[in-house]
Amino acid sequence: MIVNSSLDEVKKRENALSIIKNIVETKGRDSLFDLTGLSGGFIANPSELSLLETYVGPAIFEEALQEVGIEHMGGEKVLPLNRTSSGILATILTLVKKDSNVVHYLAELPAHPSIPRSCKLVGAKYFETDVFDEFSIPENTSLVIVTGSTMDHKVIDEDEFRKVIEMAHEKDIPVMVDDASGARLRTVVFNQPKACDLGADIAITSTDKLMPGPRGGLMAGRKELIDEIKVKVNQFGLEAQPPAVLAMLNGIKNFNEENLINSFDRKDQLFELLCKQFNNFEKTPTGVMISAEDLADEIEISHNLSDNDLAFILAFILLKDYGIITIPAVGMPGASATIRFDLSTSDAFNFDLIDLSKKIEASFEKLLDVITNEEKCREIVFSF
Ligand SMILES: *Cc1c(COP(=O)(O)O)cnc(C)c1O
Repeated sequence: MIVNSSLDEVKKRENALSIIKNIVETKGRDSLFDLTGLSGGFIANPSELSLLETYVGPAIFEEALQEVGIEHMGGEKVLPLNRTSSGILATILTLVKKDSNVVHYLAELPAHPSIPRSCKLVGAKYFETDVFDEFSIPENTSLVIVTGSTMDHKVIDEDEFRKVIEMAHEKDIPVMVDDASGARLRTVVFNQPKACDLGADIAITSTDKLMPGPRGGLMAGRKELIDEIKVKVNQFGLEAQPPAVLAMLNGIKNFNEENLINSFDRKDQLFELLCKQFNNFEKTPTGVMISAEDLADEIEISHNLSDNDLAFILAFILLKDYGIITIPAVGMPGASATIRFDLSTSDAFNFDLIDLSKKIEASFEKLLDVITNEEKCREIVFSF
């Protein structure tokens, strides 16, 4: 085994960062391709950064975010939050009373854990289902929740979405939509309307999902409800701070629908190309992946490496030889060793997929060449 402990993982990560630094310094940032899908983003220019003071920042950027955010999300007012989870918590703290019911419909279980956790916190009774015929709204319901697109990117059926909102509004119950990725995935790829345009009272999106923004949440909806929720948000410190607000603003401005549509089409192409050479790649909504175990299954040569070691070595070959960044190389100790190639972020947009599949294949061939030479493998992972 090459990577044996958390300490080994720390050393591995430090080495990956040294390699990245070296590539940036010798060849430039353009020679790196971050395909982790977690490349986040903080788009800001120096004159904007100089305004990031406690009170000046919000005065400028929250104002600007109103217009841009409403255009992105619909609704009458938007509210920037520390995370989507913060917006879910604040809405439930505001609208849900102890012992009342909260019912949630989503395309596929499980719900994001922040929803049941927040309900538990206020002492509400929480019900969730992904079977439309089993969805109903009992007496004493304070909030109806719909998830637009689940954590695994399963998107709700538009007719069912409309029906749930109608059922809630017949009983004068507000509807909150968890549209973390859905605000873009549903609308851009599945051509559905914005949640607020479908009648949602509150919708919340994640500003780092499928867009070049920071980790954060953006809530939109009816003004009087947003104002009520904003009180809780400020009382409990759930609001986004000025730097995040600035980056959200610029992230939304730089969100490009075409790129998102392309990544959904392109992942099929990449998958087909890789299937010619490999048996075990799987599709994700925005790319492809292979687990350490499945990678081991691709290899017939006998060797003494663990499954995770194989993934780490392959990730380092991809990084050193081609500047391709994947999570097994740069991840924190304990991060998954699954190798993902995510096509939804900016470095992937201009990557030729035939070229990418050839680089993956060549890296795999190199792995086979070194696999019985443990000293060489160690060198690939730990020294740059
Ligand atoms: C990511 C996600 C969230 C939580 O977003 P955070 O910014 O991590 O709080 C909530 N719901 C769904 C469906 C998600 O995919």
